[in-house]
Amino acid sequence: MSRKPIIAGNWKMNKTAAEAREFIEAVKNQVPANELVDSVVGAPNLFVEGMTKGTKDSELKVAAQNCYFEDEGAYTGETSPKALGALGVDYVIIGHSERRDYFHETDEEVNKKAHAIFRNDMLPIICCGESLETYEAGKAEEFVGGQIKAALKDLSADQVASLVLAYEPIWAIGTGKSATKDDAQKMCAHIRSVVAGEFSQDVADKVRIQYGGSVKPENIADYMACPDVDGALVGGASLKVDSFLALLEAVK
Ligand code: PGA
Repeated sequence: MSRKPIIAGNWKMNKTAAEAREFIEAVKNQVPANELVDSVVGAPNLFVEGMTKGTKDSELKVAAQNCYFEDEGAYTGETSPKALGALGVDYVIIGHSERRDYFHETDEEVNKKAHAIFRNDMLPIICCGESLETYEAGKAEEFVGGQIKAALKDLSADQVASLVLAYEPIWAIGTGKSATKDDAQKMCAHIRSVVAGEFSQDVADKVRIQYGGSVKPENIADYMACPDVDGALVGGASLKVDSFLALLEAVK
């Protein structure tokens, strides 16, 4: 089963709109063809509009980093999925461990957000991953499996086949301590088996699963060699033009 690789940069709360423009100008004509790899930049929501305009004639796709689960209404300070969809945003990253830990995002909210993202013609990149404590207790598979089942509740088989799951062990994010490729493969295979159990083998064969956590140009090939790893969600190494392009080159 061949799945198209997907590399998504997650800029987190970094860059100004001007810096984002500079980045886009520098990379947009060097991004590999869409048939080879989906190349995505996850920009702060504040300037996704400039990103969608700036990437219009390029192969680069734009992700927002969060949204609310209602389409619109009296939710001061929140980001409307309807507004993101209308801007031409392609993906929304949800369930990132930073959002779960610092902003108390729950499995139930992640699921409601996934539904809202589909309602507004975008695709979710759903993050999951265990803490060091859970990993060391040997409970990582059980924990991540639970996150996946909750996140995908009541989605259709077609929706699940089209979305992206990102396995990011919390102990590997921004720490420089990346998971071994065996750890990444084992968990991504487990996630795929959970999808097969909840939906079907066909859906599991189609869903794309990324590894994330201290991915950089020097180690991406190791992960991409794993049969169940279809790409990467990349924080730090996605901020610089050279390393972002090197990641794309390595997978195309
Ligand atoms: P990192 O972040 O690549 O800087 O470890 C990954 C992420 O949080 O998505």
